Amino acid sequence: MWSTREGFHSLIATTTLVVTIFLHTSHAIPPLFPQPPDFGGEVDLARAPTPADRLPKTLTPYHYWLELRPIIDDGTGTGERFTAPGKISIKTIRSLESGNGNTITFHSLNNAINETTVSVVDDTDGTSLTIDYFVISLSSHWFTIVMASNSTLVAGKNYTLSMEFVSKINTQDAIGLYTSVYKGADNSTKYLVSTDFQAPDARMAFPCFDEPHMKAVWEIDIIRQTHYHSLANMPLADSTPVPELPGWVRDRYLPTVPMSSYLICFAVSDFTMEAANTSIYSKPVHVWGPPPLMERGNGRFSPDFSAKLMSFFETYYRIEYALPKMDKISIPDYSSGAMENWGLNTYRDTRLLYEEGISTAQDMFSMTNTISHELVHQWWGNLVTCEWWSDLWIQEGAATYYAPIGVAGVGMGDLLPMETLITASIQRSFDFDANKGLTHPIHLENIDPTNVALLFDTLTYHKGASLIRMMNAIVSTNTYNTAMTRFLHRYSYSTATQGDMFAVLDEVIAETPASSPLPANVNLTQIMETWTLQSGYPVVSVERSQFSNNVTFTQERFFQRIADGVGDTTRWHIPLTVQRPTDVLIPVRPERWLTADRAQTSLIPVSGAWIIVNPQSHGYYRVHYKNALLDAIIDQLWRDHTVFDVQVRSTLVDDNINLGYAGYLDLGKALNLTLYLRNERVLFPWQSFFTNMALPYRMYARSSPFSSFKKYVLDLTADALTAINIQPQPSDDNPTTLLRTLLVTWRCNLGDAACITYSIGRFSAWMNNPSNTSIVAPDLQPSVYCTAIANGGDSEWNFVWSQYLMADRDVIQTSLIRALACSKTSFRLNTLLEMAFDLNSGVRGKHRTLTVQAVAGNSAGVNLAFSFLRANWEAMIRRYGASMPSGIITTLSTQLISALERKNLEDFVASTGAQLQLSAGAVENLDKGAHWRTTIEGNFTTFIRSLTP
Ligand SMILES: [Zn+2]
Repeated sequence: MWSTREGFHSLIATTTLVVTIFLHTSHAIPPLFPQPPDFGGEVDLARAPTPADRLPKTLTPYHYWLELRPIIDDGTGTGERFTAPGKISIKTIRSLESGNGNTITFHSLNNAINETTVSVVDDTDGTSLTIDYFVISLSSHWFTIVMASNSTLVAGKNYTLSMEFVSKINTQDAIGLYTSVYKGADNSTKYLVSTDFQAPDARMAFPCFDEPHMKAVWEIDIIRQTHYHSLANMPLADSTPVPELPGWVRDRYLPTVPMSSYLICFAVSDFTMEAANTSIYSKPVHVWGPPPLMERGNGRFSPDFSAKLMSFFETYYRIEYALPKMDKISIPDYSSGAMENWGLNTYRDTRLLYEEGISTAQDMFSMTNTISHELVHQWWGNLVTCEWWSDLWIQEGAATYYAPIGVAGVGMGDLLPMETLITASIQRSFDFDANKGLTHPIHLENIDPTNVALLFDTLTYHKGASLIRMMNAIVSTNTYNTAMTRFLHRYSYSTATQGDMFAVLDEVIAETPASSPLPANVNLTQIMETWTLQSGYPVVSVERSQFSNNVTFTQERFFQRIADGVGDTTRWHIPLTVQRPTDVLIPVRPERWLTADRAQTSLIPVSGAWIIVNPQSHGYYRVHYKNALLDAIIDQLWRDHTVFDVQVRSTLVDDNINLGYAGYLDLGKALNLTLYLRNERVLFPWQSFFTNMALPYRMYARSSPFSSFKKYVLDLTADALTAINIQPQPSDDNPTTLLRTLLVTWRCNLGDAACITYSIGRFSAWMNNPSNTSIVAPDLQPSVYCTAIANGGDSEWNFVWSQYLMADRDVIQTSLIRALACSKTSFRLNTLLEMAFDLNSGVRGKHRTLTVQAVAGNSAGVNLAFSFLRANWEAMIRRYGASMPSGIITTLSTQLISALERKNLEDFVASTGAQLQLSAGAVENLDKGAHWRTTIEGNFTTFIRSLTP
């Protein structure tokens, strides 16, 4: 008989199976609730388990044998296409603490378990236990086997649990065991199957104990047709024909080291590969991708680069990589950026494959950083795993923190990965973490399984990385590295909590007490818990006495709107590092602490006009320089901004604009600081500036002060673009290319005549010679296409559309379809909205939501997109589910400015009768708009008008 879950019936289409399912659902599963027997409280079957429940810890798996046969092709005659018949055998031990019992509970979702094959064998004598019945909890993904009363599971004994099943290959979403599609060289559609299991999706491919602490050795057999090949976490042991299945082969893989289920991965495809040079790293490193892309050389960069990183991290952590090989595979349909499955990393194509003349500077940066991130995980996450997802930040923070160290460490420091980490990670995290409606502590004690997906957010990655960077600076790199190597050794093949990590640091610090950098009577654990168990972060105000050189530091929690902080008493242990004008080197170690038991402390600096607090942003906090101190800093920026490190400049821009927006600082003064940017030629301060100008750009786009705003930004940016030249130069490094892209995008959007002329010129040259795709530099393509459409007519429109239909890489398709949404004509934009929704228009399915969102993001298209949503939301839900209208609502929430527009959106959402809702993010966007109107707009407008007499 078959166990099944709702939703699986349509997939199992053969008559026999449907009949079997009918029989099964009619009487084979005993009803869950009527009079369940008493199981001694082991699994409370009187109460339906909820998705928020954890698996009982009564049974621990230590060895899996898994066989899976994904059926990719149509008409094999061996089973339904896009299913995977499988067998699994799990060796377990009954825990001593649990005592004897009579149930076994594990995860299974969408797997049709053949109940007649389920067996539980006592490993000591080989006897089979008698199974009374099965309980399947549909909502919690649980499958429970109940033993008969004469078959007891004895504490401390080993049992092998076996069964056969058919799992479903997901053809809709890129999760679990799923299929992916690409175009072959002959333009035919090719299929492959791969997996993506983090966090709770291994259970969608096979029954298992799907929690990260339940580590086990895995032996995996993949059965595939001979024209495919397979990959898994470990090297292949052997391949043998399957006698009863002509044309099929069994690939048997070597046993893994103990590992968590979410890290299991396998793939069946016809991909080809490039190998790294084994003189760089002794173990094999291979990069796999679709043959047409590999033949164009797309796989040439990554193998050697990855091999260098493997070698680098082995030396850095002083721990050998645990597996005998490393494969990396590019998956055409991919929901995130990449995944660190042990020994078989999976990637979206732009993060692994690099194509000269097509990939951009941003692609090069993201690719190198992502490859490095996934390799860090081989130690942080795979070797040592979070005990529960509450501590996900440790491994994601570590991967985010060490990735740029790796990139720089293998000779690609000219991409400026460390500098980018500082600006991008900290400032992005600050924005999210100051938002009262969105933020949360990065360690969420006992987070339940239903909320795990929420943890994969900006805070886990970027606040996590920032806090690791802060710990490193507090204790010094030497101490930190000693402690982390010890931590990785101690918890290898096991799991750990943040408490375990902090304890190792405290242990190492205690070995040399004389040089402890910590404040008296406080250990590192106590310091760090103020950062990981509390939401948000502080702003440290720095004020100099009018009568002496005394400087006072005051802490309070920073909020996006100062009013949100009324009554808040959160405090942190804050390391204070101070740079004075006389310092030759930028200090890293804290000079003083502002401890959590007090709001204020003071320090006497040496004389000098200014000081910089937290100069390399090692401390996770903003700095508010008050009065004369800020004047002195602005004065120095004007006279010679290069006195300050580029990181300091970037932080000054970001901190002060945000302090101004939130109401901690006079906004006019903050914007006055930005005027120094006329002389700025380095990427990072500009990135900080433009990130913070997105709000005024959107808010002004449909109002009269827009002309003053344009003049403000165009005046600031003019010299910088002249200095680096609008036309890409052979000598450009990556950061210069990124800066040019920013400047050109903003200046063209703001109507700069020279920028528009340049863009139209490049675009015309491409139209005249369409096969030469490098006429427009890859990095400038999105901006140039958008400008050409915004300023062009039918011929530009038709050309971009025809190129979209022909393009074979997502990155190109996306910039072309987005460009169409840059039109300023209502007729064109309405046509595009209709095309986005018309199944036969040629707009690809994956671009439908994005196209409507792009129209909504265009000030000329906001109201059109809103009307379109009102007219079509029900049809959208019917066809695509709620995610399409919800995505459009989120974009509209950033664009609808006036109180009336906000009310219209809220009324519309209410009118859908809860079929659509405003997400927390959308509410925040609307609140940001309201805050702009009440608090920011007047001061901003006064400032930009003061610049134009
Ligand atoms: Zn990661």
